[in-house]
Amino acid sequence: MNVIELIKKKRDRISLSREEIFFLINNYTKGKIPDYQFSAFLMAVLLNGMNSDETTALTEAMLYSGKIIDLSNIKGIKVDKHSTGGVGDKTSLILAPIVATAGVKVPMISGRGLGHSGGTLDKLESIFGFRTDLNLTQYISAIKKTGAVMIGQTKSIAPADKLIYALRDVTATVESIPLITGSVMSKKLAEGIDGLVLDIKTGSGAFMREFKDAKRLADSLINTAKSFDKNVIGIITDMNQPLGNYIGNWLEVVESVKALQGDEIHDLMKVTHTLSGAMIFLGNKAGSIEEGIEISKKMISSGKAFDKFLEIVKMQNGDTSIIKDLSKYPKSKYVEKVVASKSGYFESVNNYEIGMSALELGAGRLTKDDKIDPKAGIIFYPKIGDKIKKGDIIAELFTDKKNKIEPTKERITQSLVFNKKQTSRPKLIKKIIL
Ligand code: URA
Repeated sequence: MNVIELIKKKRDRISLSREEIFFLINNYTKGKIPDYQFSAFLMAVLLNGMNSDETTALTEAMLYSGKIIDLSNIKGIKVDKHSTGGVGDKTSLILAPIVATAGVKVPMISGRGLGHSGGTLDKLESIFGFRTDLNLTQYISAIKKTGAVMIGQTKSIAPADKLIYALRDVTATVESIPLITGSVMSKKLAEGIDGLVLDIKTGSGAFMREFKDAKRLADSLINTAKSFDKNVIGIITDMNQPLGNYIGNWLEVVESVKALQGDEIHDLMKVTHTLSGAMIFLGNKAGSIEEGIEISKKMISSGKAFDKFLEIVKMQNGDTSIIKDLSKYPKSKYVEKVVASKSGYFESVNNYEIGMSALELGAGRLTKDDKIDPKAGIIFYPKIGDKIKKGDIIAELFTDKKNKIEPTKERITQSLVFNKKQTSRPKLIKKIIL
């Protein structure tokens, strides 16, 4: 088989066979296809799509690039959650300890920042010493000891996704239903889980801006999970504004810790409790999602979920003293305010622009080799529907890059829409697919 011929086929909208897809994935994973050719292939997929047979073959090729972990000798039901990505989406950090405390095992393989969206691994690694690169033995032992573990793709677990994910991040090839399906499901199916909750984001800060596209992505992910006999619940949630207020790696750890300590951050906790409630239900520790939500809330109010978070951080070599005293973390060189240039009701924000602003301040990557600044990011205060007065603080920027401050202030200001009349607040939970 010839790589150029296969790229041409996809470019010319001809379907690829299962063997051709396995050839491309295996050879890219082995380093035999260079990034420039694989990028062209990814762009052809993004533009021309894949049919369901091709998507299944892609997912399987990516999954079988590594091992499928066998957790059958660990007692209990294992359930994970995965989000399709958004701005300020830190629910994994909060729900993993909640669900583990409720008695359901949570083996989690996550990703890094992707495009304008943040990634769980980058967030966790902002905690000094936190290791997301545990090997298989350490992964299994961590689940046995704490009930939850959070790692990244490795050379032996979903290695194809590790490589393709990093390439998609910097080649504008993220927003594709087959590529997202292959990426998400190859990690999730490798984990050794029994059940999976999928958080499919829709809105201006999501990869699927329109609800109908988010529904198509949900169907693709759910059908793949079911074809591997996994119990699955898909939840389509709003991403038309940042989730919570903090965006950026360490900033998101800070907000997660506050949430775990009981701060009632309305939108963040509504989405988190719905997801963790669904996980607790799939883990057979509740008779319904609603009952799961009540258990989830109790895990926070009792302080048990926060203690579990400390346990997970410790188990993965992270510095718990920084979690217990958040003020000890290094500060950005510059902290700047963005203020409202007019009064009115906050009608909408282009949330993609907020994600890109955080990335430009240092929270994400523009090339594969870029180093993240864990301190960098944004606190974004208003919520859609709020009344704003000229001069109110809209956001605070945290960065070490002086030259990014003014363009970012301008970018954020341009992304906001105000109205004389109050607009309704977006519905956070748009659809639950059982
Ligand atoms: N999350 C993933 O793991 N992969 C994607 O492609 C998008 C979101």
